Amino acid sequence: MFDIEDLYQDVVIDHNRRPRNFRELDSPNRTAEGFNPLCGDQVYLYLHVDDSEIVRDIGFTGAGCAISKASASMMTEAIMGKSVDESEKIFDAFRHMLTRGPDEEFDYELLGDLEFLEGVAKYPVRIKCAVLSWHALNSALNGNQAGEQTVSTE
Ligand code: ZN
Repeated sequence: MFDIEDLYQDVVIDHNRRPRNFRELDSPNRTAEGFNPLCGDQVYLYLHVDDSEIVRDIGFTGAGCAISKASASMMTEAIMGKSVDESEKIFDAFRHMLTRGPDEEFDYELLGDLEFLEGVAKYPVRIKCAVLSWHALNSALNGNQAGEQTVSTE
C-alpha cells in the first residue's frame, strides 16, 4: 500500500485534503481532459484566458489518487494570473524537476511550492499521476481555443 505520509510534505497533504480551485468555471474558453489509465486518475481542466493571454481563472474537477489531486490543486495556484508563456515555463520546470538526471539543475524559484512534489521523482509510476494535470494544461493552452482537448499519459 502506498503511504502518502512517507513521501509527501505537509503542504502536499493539505492540497490533497483541501484542493484549491476544485470547481468548474461558468464560461471557460479553454478546456482539457486528462486520463492516466495506469492509476485511473481523471482530470477536467477549465481555464479563462483573456485577450492578453493571461490566465484569469482556472479550475479543475475529476477523481484520482492523492498525488494527482494535490498536483492539480498546486498547479492551479501556480498558474492563476500567469501569462500563457509563464505557464509553459513553469510546466517545463516542473516536468524537468520530476524527470531530470541527478546533476541537472532546475528553477526552484519558478516552481515555488511545487518543489514539495519533488519526492515523486523517486517513484516513476507516480510521476504520471503528478504530471497528468500539467499535460492537460499544456494541451488546453496550446490546443484549439474553442475545442476540448483530451490527453492520456499512455
Ligand atoms: Zn494516480
